[in-house]
Amino acid sequence: MAKVTLTFDNGPESQVTPQVLDCLAHHGVKSTFFVLGRKVSTPAGLDLARRASREGHWIGNHTWSHIGRMGEGTGEAALQEFERTEQALSWVKQPVPLFRPRGGAGKLGKGLLHPAVVERLTLGGYTCVLWNSVPGDYRDPDGWMERALADCRTREWSLVVLHDLPNGAMLHLDGFLRKLREEGYQLTQDFPPECTPIVGGKIVQPLDGFL
Ligand SMILES: [Zn+2]
Repeated sequence: MAKVTLTFDNGPESQVTPQVLDCLAHHGVKSTFFVLGRKVSTPAGLDLARRASREGHWIGNHTWSHIGRMGEGTGEAALQEFERTEQALSWVKQPVPLFRPRGGAGKLGKGLLHPAVVERLTLGGYTCVLWNSVPGDYRDPDGWMERALADCRTREWSLVVLHDLPNGAMLHLDGFLRKLREEGYQLTQDFPPECTPIVGGKIVQPLDGFL
């Protein structure tokens, strides 16, 4: 049975994250929210992330400000983006701490990671979660669903990047989940090994292509 893992990046946002959580609960789907430190450090953002965590979703660090690719700046700047967000997430209790770098329109490749942050991830026992499916809900709020379905049909285990941003795209989340169920996918919270170059602090894939 082909599998799909859903992740929601760049939130939380008061105008959309509650509806996303309601929808996931309705479908009995657990996911991961890769939050921005600057959003999760506000009272409203903290409440939403706490709710997501309480409802069984995982919370991951997705940098403080989401500006630039960390490998293209200084180690100090990259670490600051990481640590400020970690401070905002100090309350999170889950099996393994999670981090996802900013790609920029789904781009992997050179500059995605910074060596200083890789060292921090290995010392801290983090899992680094990348992706293999970016259907573009952030730029195409109505067309992303068909693209996501078509893309999921191309592989055995898709890790889909969606965004809990208030652009209307998440109005289609319910329809997307219905379609995935109809087509027989197993929805799982775990990550496909090909998308996790660092697992629990251990480097399990060559990182040269990301540095
Ligand atoms: Zn992002």
